[in-house]
Amino acid sequence: MRALKASFHSAAFSSNLKRVKSYSPNSKVMAVLKANAYGHGLIEAARALNDADGFSVLTLSEAIELREHGFTQHLLLLEGFFKPYEVKICSLMGIGAVIHHAQQIDYINQVKPVKPIDVHLKVNTGMNRLGFMPKDVDLILKQLEESPYINKIVIMTHFSDADGEKGVASQLACFNEIKGIDIYERSVANSAAIIKYPETHFEWVRPGIMLYGASPFDDKTGNDFQLKPVMSLRSEIIAIQTLEESQSVGYGSVFTAPHKMTVGIVACGYADGYPRHAPSGTPLMVDGVITQTVGRVSMDMLYVDLSSLPNAGVGSSVELWGKGVLVDEVARQSHTVGYELLCAISASSRVPMEYQHG
Ligand SMILES: *Cc1c(COP(=O)(O)O)cnc(C)c1O
Repeated sequence: MRALKASFHSAAFSSNLKRVKSYSPNSKVMAVLKANAYGHGLIEAARALNDADGFSVLTLSEAIELREHGFTQHLLLLEGFFKPYEVKICSLMGIGAVIHHAQQIDYINQVKPVKPIDVHLKVNTGMNRLGFMPKDVDLILKQLEESPYINKIVIMTHFSDADGEKGVASQLACFNEIKGIDIYERSVANSAAIIKYPETHFEWVRPGIMLYGASPFDDKTGNDFQLKPVMSLRSEIIAIQTLEESQSVGYGSVFTAPHKMTVGIVACGYADGYPRHAPSGTPLMVDGVITQTVGRVSMDMLYVDLSSLPNAGVGSSVELWGKGVLVDEVARQSHTVGYELLCAISASSRVPMEYQHG
């Protein structure tokens, strides 16, 4: 059997949840579990994060799965209803929904659900992706308040630049100016805002990436915020090559040996979710020692410099990312973010997942 697998450390999850709570001690936590919990497995992630006050997901089927597994927390559909029939199921199963356009309110009024629905009213304060314009919120709130089909209303918005230079000031000011907002619970902070902007914490926070132990800032790592990596991606060396000076390894001959050297062939490639754009020099660990990739990542394999590991051979263990090499470092080398690398592992059906409890 191919050795590549992803391990998930549930103790790291609970530790990261505690970090969220220490940043925002007075807020309820809506853990973001979309995209199969950023690649980590929806149900296992929810189990490890059982102390969260709520879970948010993208699709109704994910929310149903959580209910069927007995989770009693608040559940939230981050993009709300796509079709009217979903209203009925949400009502029956006590699943809340984001309302970000007027048609979603029409769906509720058409379906006339038996049990009124909890909603998060989404306001577009400048990201210009989803949500009502602030000037329209007053009227929408009146409609929602008058509807017998709506239960609790939370007001939310989402930041475009909490992790960047621009920051949250203008969006937050826009949010705070909404008429009558103080009587509602508010939910605005993603991981970057939880860490950097305490004034955004309000009644609810919505952490995603930090729960998985990675950094929301592309110039920092999870370590910088005492977050613990939940996922380790590990494999083994399946062959050894000796390159003479000026010989190459892999497609395109993009790496040429500066001197005679030993190279390990690792069972992990871009079809598994490892980034093809990771250049020569991307860190990884062999037998517990940090070394680096050489050559271009292929579909099923990548190559590692074994110059400093004379005892490594076929069967030597390789950590692509995890505790020794942070996913944030691999992401930075590959000009992407930890979010994309973690999600890609779940998108690949080739990597078995192993759950480690305690
Ligand atoms: C994904 C998402 C989050 C979590 O963002 P992180 O940067 O992973 O913390 C929060 N809110 C909404 C609406 C999201 O879509």
